[in-house]
Amino acid sequence: MTQTAPITQDVLTLPRKLPEGPVNIVGLTREGLRAALIAAGTPEKQAKMRVSQIWQWVYWWGVRDFAAMTNLSKSYRTMLAEHFVIELPEMVSRQVSADGTRKYLARIRGGHEVEVVYIPEEDRGTLCISSQVGCTLTCSFCHTGTQRLVRNLTAGEIVGQIMMARDDLGEWPRPGEGMGERPRLLSNIVLMGMGEPLYNFENVRDAMKIAMDGEGISLSRRRITLSTSGVVPEIARAAEEIGCMLAVSFHATTDEVRDKLVPINRKWNIATLLEALRDYPRLSNSERITFEYVMLKGVNDSDADARRLVQLIKGIPAKINLIPFNEWPGAPHERSDWERIERFADIVHKAGYASPIRTPRGEDIMAACGQLKSASERARKSRKEIEAEAGL
Ligand code: SAH
Ligand code: SF4
Repeated sequence: MTQTAPITQDVLTLPRKLPEGPVNIVGLTREGLRAALIAAGTPEKQAKMRVSQIWQWVYWWGVRDFAAMTNLSKSYRTMLAEHFVIELPEMVSRQVSADGTRKYLARIRGGHEVEVVYIPEEDRGTLCISSQVGCTLTCSFCHTGTQRLVRNLTAGEIVGQIMMARDDLGEWPRPGEGMGERPRLLSNIVLMGMGEPLYNFENVRDAMKIAMDGEGISLSRRRITLSTSGVVPEIARAAEEIGCMLAVSFHATTDEVRDKLVPINRKWNIATLLEALRDYPRLSNSERITFEYVMLKGVNDSDADARRLVQLIKGIPAKINLIPFNEWPGAPHERSDWERIERFADIVHKAGYASPIRTPRGEDIMAACGQLKSASERARKSRKEIEAEAGL
């Protein structure tokens, strides 16, 4: 299939003519789809309604065939089939852990692959999605950080991961069944897979808008969490243009240690990051920020670290998620002992913050946080490259 030109949300650049080849509907913003429908001959007056109808078919009902869109006329359906496609990443493998966690490998255009993880819990089902193939950053404890950035995912590839998981969970409503009649298996989304979401801002934004739209995937913005390593200039923009929950990969309490663990800290240090975070809840109207803190033996897990952490975040409505380090072959760190993690959690908790210890899930299938990697070993960074990027 020929690659289609992206249709952006910017009204000034919306195409008057359709690009060569069929346009993928998945991932187009409302404005983008409206413009594409008009370019394909839909009268302007009708276009808004057609967008609603098509979105409901695609995102509420999981329909992939224009012929099934029965509230559209036959000729309109034929026109859609001529100019458009409804295309998702292809699921090339699926592993199910003993604890029910599912790990999918999704193939996207160009033959690249990203990992997607579904984590069922008693009261929710969380899908961990990827925003990039590889990552430009080189956090020392993260497997994805050992791979080069291959490319950013498109908005369609990001939303497509959600739809692919819903396919596998059999979650689309059955004929005759109303929306929301069953509790949702896929109720939460975390942008905590491969890549740095704020380095793929527009596509992540457009995809999350579809995820949050009442005629799209229809998840509340409070059920979507974007995790960033600390791309400071994009944090306020994320509050204003996306408005979902924010998690930050904090992981250290001094610049000296954070410079090594999360090298982006050399660009935007702890003080600069905290300043941006202080404004986030007000700008996005969300209650609190999640501070992610990976527990690395002898590196960042002392009582003094715990005390410094609560000092640093004073005044920010926060929850601190303690993540026992998930090991991967060749990793330069070890997981902190359980007693140490509990003691750390206790200090944070006594200071008045929720401090849940994240139970590692799907370890038997390497599905846990930071263990994801693309299948392509060719994309590995060399040690030299890692050291150069990290400024070591
Ligand atoms: N790039 C984004 C989102 C992806 S990583 C970010 O860095 O925030 C999602 C979370 O998993 C981050 O908090 C990250 O620091 C953490 N993580 C990465 N590798 C890990 C590992 N091996 N063990 C535990 N957590 C890890
Ligand atoms: Fe990239 Fe996040 Fe991994 Fe750091 S932790 S290398 S930012 S994916």
